[in-house]
Amino acid sequence: MAQALRHDAMRAGNLAVVLGALDRDGPLTRAALAEATGLTKTTVSKLVADLIDAGMAVESGAVRDGERGRPGVAVHLSGHRVAALGLEINVDYLAGCVVDLSRTARLFRTQAVDNRAASPEDVIAGLRDLAISMLADAAGHGLSVAGGIVALPGPVDRSTGTVHSAPNLGWRDVPVADALALPLPVLVDNEANLAALGELWFGSGAALGDFLHVSGEIGIGAGLVVDGALFRGAHGYAGELGHVVVSPDGPACRCGGTGCLERYAGQDALLPAGEDLAGLVARLRAGDPSAVAACERAGSALGIALTTAVNLLDPDTIVLGGIFAPLFPWVSGPAEATMHRRLGQIRARVPALVVSQVGADAAPLGGAGQVIQRIIADPGAHLLAPQP
Ligand SMILES: [Zn+2]
Repeated sequence: MAQALRHDAMRAGNLAVVLGALDRDGPLTRAALAEATGLTKTTVSKLVADLIDAGMAVESGAVRDGERGRPGVAVHLSGHRVAALGLEINVDYLAGCVVDLSRTARLFRTQAVDNRAASPEDVIAGLRDLAISMLADAAGHGLSVAGGIVALPGPVDRSTGTVHSAPNLGWRDVPVADALALPLPVLVDNEANLAALGELWFGSGAALGDFLHVSGEIGIGAGLVVDGALFRGAHGYAGELGHVVVSPDGPACRCGGTGCLERYAGQDALLPAGEDLAGLVARLRAGDPSAVAACERAGSALGIALTTAVNLLDPDTIVLGGIFAPLFPWVSGPAEATMHRRLGQIRARVPALVVSQVGADAAPLGGAGQVIQRIIADPGAHLLAPQP
């Protein structure tokens, strides 16, 4: 028994080593995989056969093993069967995406809904309907969805699948993962953290260096990526940029404080009542002075909050996402001018502001991407689990 367990653990470890090599460096021949992993060719062949059976790898054309090697059959990681679900509950929309094992986004869905007007039960039921229809579509594409992550606009307890508080939804301690009751393992995470991972894996990625990703929504969150991984803070609350104080005597905020960034640059502060984002962008394009002035105010406030972030964290790059992506041409200039005024004296280089390459889908993409990372890090857990 003990020996069987050891054998399973070793096989699981070796599957991860081989799939990891294919993910990083593939396509590779079995001989090149053996050389790269230090495993014997016989072991590699068995593991590759298991991965092919599980739909995680496929054989493709011939490649040459280095300079002198003979041409061999290449094996590469495949996205044709295994996939992951990314979901998002935000204040004024629900969203979902399905990403396959090769990190190709296969399906997207977004629903505009006012989640402030609905109970948590109704919002979660709406997300469940969206998820179930996406799982059916994924199955129609031959995809088997291994797990999902829900992005939520507030601090979460990832171990219990609960959102602690989402002030802009009026939610406290809602057990989202349990209430969703989907027929697959589901975790929760913070929307701003997942959006940063979405940018890392599906946007500009490694070119950003250590970066801060700012998600402008009704609230404003940020995710900090250091050495390719999220910095969450001791209790998972890192990156609450929306509650960084811009002006201590400013207007009251839902968090209990006053003068928070959210009150100057959040969606509710930027949009006049009754106007949507598309309406604001149309007015900006037409050069409407009040729309331009609103973005200048928001951009300057953002610049002050980002100055604090840069002084504390020293990132290479700052990515503006969420509503700040379509508003980038009007918000980034005032933000940059503020940062240069306040940071330029003591720093040789002020971090560049860049626009998100993934925009509105960043958080669900980051969620699905995180599930894919886990499968690639431990394909054995997926292979040995009962298949639906
Ligand atoms: Zn606040």
